[in-house]
Amino acid sequence: MKFRSRADALLVPLVGAALVGIATPAVTAAADTNLQTISERSGFRVTGRYDEVERLCAQFAKSFPGSVRSFEFGRTPEGRPMLALAVSKSGALTPDDARERGVPVMLAQGGIHAGEIDGKDAGLMLLRDMTVRGTKRELLDQANFLFVPIFNVDGHERFSRYCRINQRGPEECGWRTNARNLNLNRDYVKADTLEMRAMIRVLREWQPDLYADLHVTDGADYQYDVTYGWSGASGWSPAISAWIEDTLRPALDRGLRAMGHIPGRLIFTDDPLTAGLVDGAVDPRLSTGYGDARHIPTVLLENHSLKPYDQRVLGTYVFLEHILRTLAREGSVLRAAIARDRANRSASIPLAWRVPDSDTRTIEFLGIESRRTLSPISGEVRIEWTGKPVTARVPFRSASEVTASVTRPAAYWIPASWQEVIEKLDLHGIAYERITAPRDVVVEMTRFGAPKFDVEQFEGHVRVTAPATTERRRERYPAGSVRVSTDQPLGTLAVLMLEPSSPDSLFQWGFFNSILSPTEYVESYIMEPMAERMLAEDPKLAAEFLKKIDSDEAFRGNPRARLQWFYERTPFYDERARLYPVGRE
Ligand SMILES: [Zn+2]
Repeated sequence: MKFRSRADALLVPLVGAALVGIATPAVTAAADTNLQTISERSGFRVTGRYDEVERLCAQFAKSFPGSVRSFEFGRTPEGRPMLALAVSKSGALTPDDARERGVPVMLAQGGIHAGEIDGKDAGLMLLRDMTVRGTKRELLDQANFLFVPIFNVDGHERFSRYCRINQRGPEECGWRTNARNLNLNRDYVKADTLEMRAMIRVLREWQPDLYADLHVTDGADYQYDVTYGWSGASGWSPAISAWIEDTLRPALDRGLRAMGHIPGRLIFTDDPLTAGLVDGAVDPRLSTGYGDARHIPTVLLENHSLKPYDQRVLGTYVFLEHILRTLAREGSVLRAAIARDRANRSASIPLAWRVPDSDTRTIEFLGIESRRTLSPISGEVRIEWTGKPVTARVPFRSASEVTASVTRPAAYWIPASWQEVIEKLDLHGIAYERITAPRDVVVEMTRFGAPKFDVEQFEGHVRVTAPATTERRRERYPAGSVRVSTDQPLGTLAVLMLEPSSPDSLFQWGFFNSILSPTEYVESYIMEPMAERMLAEDPKLAAEFLKKIDSDEAFRGNPRARLQWFYERTPFYDERARLYPVGRE
């Protein structure tokens, strides 16, 4: 075997003969080398730096002013411009123009994980072939291409030979996280990063008909070179999910196979030949789950990291090409599905799922044989891929049974003091009414019990969960508070952000941590005589106290807790302790 790059050489013991048997036709060979990528010119040995993207964006826009527009849609933490290209034959180069002309828009983003950079080089090639080279011009007849070559720009410029230990090229590439060490593909709901805030503005303004998030895998070896997935039908956009399964997937698979690729479904397990495949709904912190929550059809591409770079880039090219073809053909059907999901106001909103026992489906799987040996290094069984293709039937199950859900309230009330929470709603484009005078509203409120904080930070947050009870209260909301109706297309997203039991709620991300600690307390020399009086004046309370002493050993042995028990029963105790400030109407 001839090694193309240092990364390949590093991988020898791991991948064996993973290259065997997969042909990829050349769709490159541009006549005009002027707009060729550095990657193509190197024979896909390397990928360019960000200055190449800046140069090519400017050059495309200058060469095709009526059909390509390059624009900056944000700045990274390190101050780099974030660039996007709008490409349209009809000159629909702004969101308003695209809406007016009614042409479906595909938004493709490369490099959310900047080391997984196939999308950048593929999209630039496709753009070149749709314009200067002209071989794919017809793709723009009935669809617009909106392209972000690199989402995580700062991460891309953290460029080295050691970016991805399991990836077969390019020789050097960028880093997974951004300059603040945050993973953009965990940031869709909490939107901490400048990059994500910029991208959400693009999603809001353009409202793409299809959003393609372009990655490269980690994990197991198998024959598939192009795998992709989306949030399953048990999520929040069932009509969209069905369209992807029934219409887009067959078209993509046909297109990819015709060009020699082996398309497959997303594979998450390290040992798919044994464990099989599971699909289902995806958390909204991730691109596909977020798209599902806001009813934007979103497809996640995962090229197989152990396939060589040229094969992966060309696979991405074909993937994007056939999304555009399908949008042109089926755009109106997709739009009807989007409209159905946006109009859906189902009373119950699922939050968690599991595979039902009844699901015993199987699928034919194109695997790679593996060998298990005892490792003297780890002391455990280790897996070695032999490179030999094997075909087997494996379980293919769907996490379709809802195990947790919430009922959709008419609206949420957020007090004016929670400004950063209201700002998150603004960012996502969730509509609300802001009151200009105080208002009394009867709402259902959540009271938390003892919170459980994660031991380690995650994505810059200390996440939290807490047991909860609900109570009806008349609350006075000051001027500037907001009423968030769930009767809007983004109502489900509002529920997922504001219901504390939702895994991606702002509560669980720690935005409300300050309400979880009491701030007033009592000294024992005050509490002792007061407790004596309470016991003397209230026989029922006295009986309750004795019962607690008898039945709860930890309580009995904890002087502080015994005094606290009385304090909590005085009017001095904070009646808003651990009260979630967001009310349900
Ligand atoms: Zn990735």
